[in-house]
Amino acid sequence: MDEVLIEARLNEYTPREPNPNVPFSPEEIAEAAAACRDAGASVAHFHARDSETGAASTDPAVYCEIGRALRASSDIVMMPTLGATVSSVIEERFAHIHAMAASPATRAELVPLDLASANISFYDSEKRSFDREDSLYENTVATLRALSEGVRAVGVRPIGVAYSVPSLRFVEPLLDTGVLEEPLYLQLLLTGEGVLSGHPVTPRGLAALLDFIPAGVDLEWNVLAYGANLLELADLVLERGGHFALGLGDYPYLELGTPTNANIVEKLVAMARAHGREPATPALVRDRFGLMG
Ligand code: ZN
Repeated sequence: MDEVLIEARLNEYTPREPNPNVPFSPEEIAEAAAACRDAGASVAHFHARDSETGAASTDPAVYCEIGRALRASSDIVMMPTLGATVSSVIEERFAHIHAMAASPATRAELVPLDLASANISFYDSEKRSFDREDSLYENTVATLRALSEGVRAVGVRPIGVAYSVPSLRFVEPLLDTGVLEEPLYLQLLLTGEGVLSGHPVTPRGLAALLDFIPAGVDLEWNVLAYGANLLELADLVLERGGHFALGLGDYPYLELGTPTNANIVEKLVAMARAHGREPATPALVRDRFGLMG
């Protein structure tokens, strides 16, 4: 795809300090998604939050509220998290996706499937300590299959998120065994300082992943930089034909002032145009990945 697919990562579980523009409520999330769409994003990724405190919400009803508000204000492709809970009961991990699928007014279209298990421990190099030492994010192959089948049963397409070269080695086996499908929306995770589960947000960190993207698989790849400024790698990604997943959920982007999510998308679109690449529309993304819309 010559056009640039831009996924706006609106909020994750990021606090409003230092950037107060992180959306929490369904209305704020929908408004941010519509503004990102106007700026050139084609996919919106979001997490449900408590409207006042920003605390993580696992409530399927809140996901439905976000879906309804978002769909009413924009045609952007909807990608909620699959990590609303990390419950060991698989059905609970996609309960919000099933609730959203009950109506075309709220239905999700894509969900991220993390193709790795990882130690989720932030390392503070000044204090020389981890924030916690006992946190494992577990995704066995059986879990990936159950999540994939669970969301595909209601017409939602899983994307693959690669944490490292080994994740990429899993891609073809997971396609061969029906856990993933072509054409594949493949996300390459890079992580900033202290977040050790991904490759570093550097040209070398990215190049190592690009070297191991399986040839011969029909896919589009994008890059996510959790905890760092992805714009610093944007020229390289644009040259290599890649796409982007970025927003205030990952990083406050204070290099741009105190931007909104849409301001970050605007900046990226300007860079893409300098490379002769136009932003992809939601319709183009739906066509590429066979989404129902
Ligand atoms: Zn997320």
